[in-house]
Amino acid sequence: MSLFTYDASRALYDRAGMSIVGGVNSPARAFKSVGGDPLFVTRAEGCHIWDADGNRYIDYIGSWGPMIAGHAHPEVIAAVTGTAQSGTSFGVSTEAEIQIAEKIRSMVPSIELLRMVNSGTEATMSAVRLARGYTGRSKIIKFAGSYHGHGDSFLIKAGSGALTLGVPDSAGITHGIASDTLVAEYNNLESVQKLIQANKNEIAAIIVEPVVGNMGTVPPLSGFLQGLKKLIAKSGIVLIFDEVMTGFRLARGGAQELYDITPDLTTLGKIVGGGLPVGVYGGKADIMKCLAPLGPVYQAGTLSGNPLAVAAGLATLNLIDNAEVYTRLENSGKMLEQGLLQAAKNAGISITINRVGSMLTVFFTSGPVTDLSSASRSDTIKFSRFFRGMLNRGVLLPPSQFEAMFISLMHDEDAIKTSIKAAEEAFMEC
Ligand SMILES: *Cc1c(COP(=O)(O)O)cnc(C)c1O
Repeated sequence: MSLFTYDASRALYDRAGMSIVGGVNSPARAFKSVGGDPLFVTRAEGCHIWDADGNRYIDYIGSWGPMIAGHAHPEVIAAVTGTAQSGTSFGVSTEAEIQIAEKIRSMVPSIELLRMVNSGTEATMSAVRLARGYTGRSKIIKFAGSYHGHGDSFLIKAGSGALTLGVPDSAGITHGIASDTLVAEYNNLESVQKLIQANKNEIAAIIVEPVVGNMGTVPPLSGFLQGLKKLIAKSGIVLIFDEVMTGFRLARGGAQELYDITPDLTTLGKIVGGGLPVGVYGGKADIMKCLAPLGPVYQAGTLSGNPLAVAAGLATLNLIDNAEVYTRLENSGKMLEQGLLQAAKNAGISITINRVGSMLTVFFTSGPVTDLSSASRSDTIKFSRFFRGMLNRGVLLPPSQFEAMFISLMHDEDAIKTSIKAAEEAFMEC
């Protein structure tokens, strides 16, 4: 085991704190829930990432989802640098925007029309506004522990960063907005049914992560997603699948393909931008046509459909648009899952692993983990010891119990075996 030092990262963190609030541009990067100072990265390639001290890690953050093809993939880099030669933004339409829209529609057939934005947050905010405009109703249902970006309406029992920082509800959200967000329990149809009954003709949309990634990986129990769709049949409620994390990750067509459910609207982000800032929302044409310039719901963006972002996204989608990719990711995921389970068993540590394809979370609880309350039973102290143990052996995990590890196409057998070997030792330190 090499001895890792973090002096350069620590110095950068100190300097960052003088200009950037909290030293980071997104709270999850602060490593608050696992202790120690956050890393500063200098470069990444394939499944590896290097920090400012020159330490090399096998990376399971994957930029929190986008890097399915691996870091600095030559085709993505060539697309971005080639496009940049012709200018970085025009504020006027390009043919590449049509190409990526056609590509997205061919991979996610429930999307008849779409609109590009600059982040997952923008996509979910806009999709909910659209659902409200379309239905003329105000309220939405979301699930406890789900994260849909940092839009005001969603920061009620939000997952991930909000969970680990112990701020389940953000300050600065007005009472009016909070009262329009109803919270149901994931994998619990009865909790949804009760809210629908108590708010007849008032609910515009249900927004759901079809596989939750933001309280750690939590898959839908058999019949849950089908049940949701049944519950809202003829209710006028718009079903929004937030596939910002699962889109293009779990299958070509995302979770909706994997579980064979057609939502009314879908939000995308992360992979669709190939590492540049992109969000997308789309779905049924009659709903989408309520958007300006065709309809009364306004939504716009100076940099929406930005040429560099579109180039990176399109190159990434081209790389993953075949079934073999998902077989390979499944095999890598299974190998890692089995290795981690065995390593924990050998160390006498009780864990539950939830995994769907290349998305996986090691929960430090005997489980099962099916919703926010069962996820919350995890021993986060043990997780932070595990995180540190892995980091010091050259494996970078997402710095929170309530996040998913992401496997890319560049995580080969070697990388996974090395990760399992590190885990065998790290579990011993938990
Ligand atoms: C990451 C994420 C978002 C927010 O996307 P940003 O690009 O970070 O704004 C929304 N929904 C889900 C399910 C996500 O995982």
